[in-house]
Amino acid sequence: AVWVSEIMLQQTQVATVVDYYNRWMQKWPTLQALAQASLEEVNELWAGLGYYSRGKRLQEAARKVVSELAGHMPRTAEDLQKLLPGVGRYTAGAIASISYGQATGVVDGNVIRVLCRLRCIGADSSSPAVIDRLWAMANALVDRSRPGDFNQALMELGATVCVPKAPLCGECPVKQHCQARHRLFGKPTPVPDVEDCGECVGDCPLCPPATEPWDSSLGVTNFPRKAAKKQPRVMRTATCVLERRGCRGAPEYLIVQRPSSGLLAGLWEFPSLPLPQDMQEEEKKVLADHLQAWLGQPVAAKGLQFIGEVIHIFSHIHQTYVVYSLCLDGDVTLDPSSSPSRWVTEEEFHASAVSTAMKKVL
Ligand code: SF4
Repeated sequence: AVWVSEIMLQQTQVATVVDYYNRWMQKWPTLQALAQASLEEVNELWAGLGYYSRGKRLQEAARKVVSELAGHMPRTAEDLQKLLPGVGRYTAGAIASISYGQATGVVDGNVIRVLCRLRCIGADSSSPAVIDRLWAMANALVDRSRPGDFNQALMELGATVCVPKAPLCGECPVKQHCQARHRLFGKPTPVPDVEDCGECVGDCPLCPPATEPWDSSLGVTNFPRKAAKKQPRVMRTATCVLERRGCRGAPEYLIVQRPSSGLLAGLWEFPSLPLPQDMQEEEKKVLADHLQAWLGQPVAAKGLQFIGEVIHIFSHIHQTYVVYSLCLDGDVTLDPSSSPSRWVTEEEFHASAVSTAMKKVL
């Protein structure tokens, strides 16, 4: 349960996760049950939660525990990270400390903020030197007798008190130890600042760069400092809602399955085609050619009706779907040699493993 919740909570808010978590645990309460699930079932339950490779890896890891580790979960952070797909340093530390009582620290976004403020670490908090130092601090600080509680308390402190924009320093249980706060009130620090560490003056991998000194208007939120965000990749994709009359008269839509690796692996979508940046005029023509691959019959570009554009932001991609629709008359035989495809009603579409972006398209 800790493992499932930690994976679901990566990059996702608690309020969003709760319902998914409950449905997941109800459907696959044990590792053995999850190991027997298909990727299709996993994607269907995960639909809308984003970062779909997480569900896939969770299921792959469950299979590995059952088939290669005789059903026994690894119990240390080192083994969890080494043996289980999708389990990184943070998740391994969380499972090992919370579930198995290993005295090992964890470093997530909340812990980074708290520790950087406690120790006035002003260098780029995503740099390897800072990350290594934060892990060393977390491992040194963790309570040996109650590591899971300590780690959860430290993360909770970052989530509720030492928040990014307006931290509640007056109510903070560790304010006496906080060097950022001492600096704000001009008090001498009870322990030396990283800035005072004699051996690396002027070239310290943890101090703020000389070009970015303390900004008194920001107070403790001078820490942590983040590197400038990379601009997301801009992509345009033509997508077509192909519609036919189903046997009971209700409309049905063609969905096709994405490849089993890469972005949105194994999910279903309307037939779609990434477009080169400068393509506008030819767009309909190339989409029509592309549709022919599924329908096994020529598709006239002029029959495609432009509906509008749907924008969806993935973590690293700014995606614009250029949406067309096409109503088909008569029966259509799908080409079985193409990627898996099927006709679905609107209700079936929403129950299928489709991404949030595709739900926006319909
Ligand atoms: S005193 Fe303020 S800045 Fe320091 S750890 Fe507490 S909430 Fe964060």
